[in-house]
Amino acid sequence: MTDSSRPTWCDIDLAALERNYSAIEQVVGASKMMPVIKADAYGHGLTQIGTRLQEIGAPCLAVAYVEEGLALRAAGITVPIQVLGGAVTRQIPLFLEHDLTFTAPSVDKLLQISEAAEAAKTTAKVHLKIDTGMERIGVHHYNADTLFEAALSCTSLEVEGVFSHLASADDTDLKSARIQLERFLEALDFYDRLSLPTPTRHIANSAAIVALPEAHLDLVRPGLLLYGIEPTDQTSKTIAVEPVLSWRSEVIYFKVVEAGSPVSYGGTWAPEHSTRVVTLPVGYADGYRRGLSNRAQVLINGTRHNVVGRVCMDQTMIDIGTTSAYNGDQVVLVGSDGNQQITIQDLALWSDTIPYEILTSITARVPRRWHS
Ligand SMILES: *Cc1c(COP(=O)(O)O)cnc(C)c1O
Repeated sequence: MTDSSRPTWCDIDLAALERNYSAIEQVVGASKMMPVIKADAYGHGLTQIGTRLQEIGAPCLAVAYVEEGLALRAAGITVPIQVLGGAVTRQIPLFLEHDLTFTAPSVDKLLQISEAAEAAKTTAKVHLKIDTGMERIGVHHYNADTLFEAALSCTSLEVEGVFSHLASADDTDLKSARIQLERFLEALDFYDRLSLPTPTRHIANSAAIVALPEAHLDLVRPGLLLYGIEPTDQTSKTIAVEPVLSWRSEVIYFKVVEAGSPVSYGGTWAPEHSTRVVTLPVGYADGYRRGLSNRAQVLINGTRHNVVGRVCMDQTMIDIGTTSAYNGDQVVLVGSDGNQQITIQDLALWSDTIPYEILTSITARVPRRWHS
């Protein structure tokens, strides 16, 4: 590289994001899309991803916390933004000032939102949250009528949607997901019984988009899938998506380690025969997790090599055997080189976690480069 940037970085392929969006759109047909871009768009960059999604026609967006919604508004995003995680009372005015869409997970909160909207002489946009089996936030499906009735009696509210969240749509066995869907639809009968129009209904996350078409309903909420990662490898059904993020570093040091000389903290690995070892300027403080120690592989010049010894806070060692690598050579931590590929799922498997946690653990210290 000719610039002065850090020799460890993530490339974010916005054209791939756009192709993934279209691929999901095709599969869900008439259902609307609400891309989920919480947690810095799963590490891909909140405002950059939000801006691109708005440009390609996403009708609305979803985040977890109000702060994420405010950042999107500050970046000039004008489409509706739903804050999925609810609203603490003292932050309700922020929603109203910046036209963010509320999640109302209880009757109490709904009344607070309505009162605040009335005082501010405005109308709050609200999605009602029904708990059908996640036991996180939301009114239990068997009490849903109380929330629906309360909403009808509030004057300063516009109930745009009713939604729920699936706990196990990524299971091979979709029984519990189907039960949740059934409970949700039963609760929604409320509107039919009163001959009222049903608000926009949504329950499908990425896993349900792939595996449970009957859950697509009026709107779908893809997160992981949008970033090109299948939420599960247990289903035979797939959607043609491609990874948006790749992660690279550079060789910064080369040496020969003699047989029996332990490498890194704790001396957990030593070569049987003398071998070549290179050092990379990336570590667990970048999100290259310590659990990858002695387990992960990287690609150098299209060849797989093992991470040896413990991953340090800022550096990681790689056994390159008898091959050669020079300072400045590119190293793929996540991505492709020749016909070899290392995926976010690989890192998740090697460090005993899920792709979501790998993506959202890549810290701000790692520069992102967005490519259109
Ligand atoms: C995070 C989240 C999603 C997106 O989940 P994926 O599995 O990434 O598709 C959808 N809905 C809610 C309520 C969420 O919190």
